Amino acid sequence: MERTFAIVKPDAFAAGHAGGIIAKIQESGLKLVAAKSLHLTEAQAKGFYFVHAERPFFGSLVTFMTEGPILAMVLEGENAIKRWRDLMGPTDATKAPKETLRGTYGTSIERNATHGSDAPETAAYEIGFFFSGLELA
Ligand code: UDP
Ligand code: MG
Repeated sequence: MERTFAIVKPDAFAAGHAGGIIAKIQESGLKLVAAKSLHLTEAQAKGFYFVHAERPFFGSLVTFMTEGPILAMVLEGENAIKRWRDLMGPTDATKAPKETLRGTYGTSIERNATHGSDAPETAAYEIGFFFSGLELA
């Protein structure tokens, strides 16, 4: 069993797609272990994306991620990290297959509807960034 961290980003949350995305998670067989909605501050968004701090898109990404509420989730299942990345599709929503979440709900390389951890180490960091042990029983 593996856990991964997922976000419905501000674009998809504001457009009312959180429910549709949760439905896809449940159809896929991944278990929704924990979920909460929150509106990130600038400091929180910078902390979450610290690995990208030197990238040219960092400032714009932080602005996007703080523009409205998000839904933060922990998903569990065998190979959960890869399964969730496959459901999301590639980073650039304009190139993502139509059946993927990013292809369905995203509109650009930045405004791509969802986030997913890319490795066990990042999943552990990201889950701990948003959820306490008490919320993950
Ligand atoms: N991003 C962007 N421009 C880029 C690459 C990424 O705005 O050229 C944004 C996009 O929202 C992406 C996030 O930064 O989801 C994190 O980038 P990463 O390369 O980690 O992509 P992901 O793991 O989300 O597919
Ligand atoms: Mg990434």
